[in-house]
This record gives sequence, structure tokens and C-alpha cells, in this order.
Amino acid sequence: MMSATAASLQNSDLDAVLTEAKEIFTRRRPESLARHVEATAVMPGGNTRSVLFHGPFPMAVARGEGATIWDADGIRYTNLIGEYTAGLFGHSHPAIRAAIQRALDTGLNLSAHNLFEAKFARAVVDRFNALESVRFTNSGTEANLMAVATATASTGRKTVLVFHAGYHGGLMTFAGGGSPVNVPHRFVLAQYNDIDGAVALARENAADLAAILLEPMQGGAGCIPATREFLAALRAVADETGALLIFDEVMTSRLSPSGLHGIHGINPDLLTLGKYIGGGMSFGAFGGRADLMEMYDPRRPDALPHAGTFNNNTLTMSAGLTAITELFPPEACSALNARGDALRTRLNEAAQKAGLAVQATGIGSMINVHPVGGTIRSAADLKNADPRLRDLLFLDMLERGFYMARRGFVALSLMVTQAELDAFADAFADWLDARSAVLPRA
Ligand code: PMP
Repeated sequence: MMSATAASLQNSDLDAVLTEAKEIFTRRRPESLARHVEATAVMPGGNTRSVLFHGPFPMAVARGEGATIWDADGIRYTNLIGEYTAGLFGHSHPAIRAAIQRALDTGLNLSAHNLFEAKFARAVVDRFNALESVRFTNSGTEANLMAVATATASTGRKTVLVFHAGYHGGLMTFAGGGSPVNVPHRFVLAQYNDIDGAVALARENAADLAAILLEPMQGGAGCIPATREFLAALRAVADETGALLIFDEVMTSRLSPSGLHGIHGINPDLLTLGKYIGGGMSFGAFGGRADLMEMYDPRRPDALPHAGTFNNNTLTMSAGLTAITELFPPEACSALNARGDALRTRLNEAAQKAGLAVQATGIGSMINVHPVGGTIRSAADLKNADPRLRDLLFLDMLERGFYMARRGFVALSLMVTQAELDAFADAFADWLDARSAVLPRA
């Protein structure tokens, strides 16, 4: 145990180093600051996408190429955020450009079915074990809204079991237990990876339980994988209660050729997808058991509606088809995730060697660095992670030329070179050394 005096000394040091890091950030980025000030006049906080905000003011990026970005002040970074998993193909992949060009050549906004969409749907259905049938949306948010609506409509029930810190889009977010802008379903919350708690809650609500909705690895909460036993228990209790099991694989579908449900060999009733599958264009999809998806068959007199002007937009349909068939076939998927596993191991070895309570969690190409020790099974295990240390890592890594998410998240793109990953691992080890005085000891 650290003495009270030592702890407060460390705290004041941390505030001081963080203030200094923010000053350095500000001094080097007058153009980003100017863009932010301009934006605040017309958007609340200058922001149209909450996750991108960070102090002292958010960086504006002027352009990207491959896995490199340049901010408005001309500073260069390796982009390790990979658009929160949507940017798998980097910023300007020639094959994606060509696919977009093919769509442009057919003409945009054809006001009808186009010649890409069924091919793309075929590729997506063939790829994921849990999909017998699929429909497209414009975002992962919509995909999850539709999946939950499918469950309430098909079961005639209203309750949805979700997990603390789960993220299913801005209208179904459960960090801190929920959000005032969540859709008004009847949500009940269990702790992630807590089999007894989740099963008991499902049974308590059995008569009205429409769905159990979860990410098989929580992404936004900090790359916290579910155990196979936990997923299997949820599969069993969904069957027992007649609720639908929905896996939100908007992020995790990249973790194996058939997503994380493929790794575990556990199929949900409904699966949601998003992000990279659209080749970097706006994308979402929900699908699963054919008997459930048939409710949307417009040939049926009682068909449920599922609308969306841009659901089959040619840019996404064409880019997505190229993305998953040409650029991210099973071998490329496995190779990328193996690189991510190796990187995560290196980061953890560096922290162990330094004797610090800092760790990298995740699977394959999705990694999250946490300034905390112990096993992380749910967001409750992160309560002692000091957010100031997350900010410090973020700002210090920017200074070293690496763009990670403020929460410590990294999503590898296919364009990041091994030399860049090696340089990042070295920079991280260097950071641990440089900041060891303010980092928690193992
Ligand atoms: N589900 C998960 C697990 C996500 O991570 C996200 C986005 N980060 C969403 C849903 C929402 O997707 P979108 O941002 O495309 O609406």
C-alpha cells in the first residue's frame, strides 16, 4: 500500500504532467484550435460525434493515406484507431477507390434495386455462420435497433436484457447503467461475464423477456472478452425462456472469418454487423435465422416494414462487396488478428517488465490499454483506472506520432506495417519508462 502522502504527491505530479502535456498539444496545434473555434459557432461543442471530443480541444485531421494521417497543422501520425474498426482498409485503398468508381459509373441514387446488393448480401451471408438471411441498414446503431425490434415483434414481449457498459449505438448505451437518450425499451441490466447474475435476471423476467443483447467482446467498454461459458449460459437461458439471443458484432465480426461467434462456435438467433464490412462507407446489417427475417418479406400481407433510403446505396454495396471478398478473405482476417495478438503480448510484456499495473486487453486486431492491474472481466474491474492516465497516454502517444483513441483503444488496419507496429510497441515501452513515477505499480 502506498502511504497517503506518497499517493497525494503522485496525484499532484500527475496533474502537473497532464497540464504540461496539454500545453504542448495546444502549442503545436493552432490550426486545429482555429477549426474547433469555428465549429463551436454552429455545432454544440464543435462536435457532431461525441467520441471524437477530447481535451484541451480535438485535433482536426486534414488528410489520410494508407495508415497515415496528417492533422491541420501538418503533424503526421500512424492511425491506430482505424476509425473504431470501420477503417480496416486504411484511407485510400486502390481497390476500394475502384469499387467506389464502379458505383459512380453506374450512377448514384438509382431509386431501385441495383446490381450490387444481392451479390453483397450473398457474400455476407456466406461469411457468417449465424446468418441465413440479412438486411442492410446505414449504421450499426440502426442494425441493433432493428434487431431488438425484430425480437419484440416476434416474441410479443417487451423486456431486453443488456449488460453494464455495453454499447450498441448512441441510442442503446449502458455505460453508467444507461442514458437519457436511449430508446424506451424496458431494459434490465446484468454484469458482463457474471453467469449467475445474468441467468437469474433472465429467469426473473422470463415471461416478458424478448431478447438478450450483448457484444461477445465489449468494445467501447474497453475490449473485455466474454468467456465462452458466459456466452453458452446465455444461449441456454435464451432457449429456456424463449427470448432471442442477439450478438452485436458490429466491431467484433473482424476477429475471425466468421466473427467472434465463429471462434466460440455459438450462434445467436440474430446478429448485427457494421463498420468495416461496408468497405469504409456508411454501413450496418442485421440478420440471422431465416424464420425471423422472413417477417420482413414484403410479399407477405403481414410483412413488417424496414425502410431506409440509403439501405442499398451503391457506394456501400460496391465497396462492401470488394472489401469482404477481395481485401479481407479468411486468410487476411486471420493474419491481421495474429499480428494484433502479437502486439498485445508485446505491450503486456513491456508493462510487466516495468513492474507497472498497466495492461492491454482484447482479442486479435482490437486492443485496449488500461492503467490498472488485476483480471478485467467487466467494466466494474476498471473502476480504479484513473482517467487522467488515459488522457496522458493519449496525448503522449500523439507526441510520439501515434493516434490511439483517448480511451486507450487500438484497432489495426490492414495498411499498418509491421515496422509501424514495432515502433508503436517501442514507443509504449518508452512511455512506461518516462511516466513510471505517475503510473500505478504492479
Ligand atoms: N455496436 C457496437 C458494438 C459498436 O461498437 C458501435 C459503434 N462503435 C455500434 C454498435 C454503432 O455503430 P454505428 O456507429 O455505425 O452506428
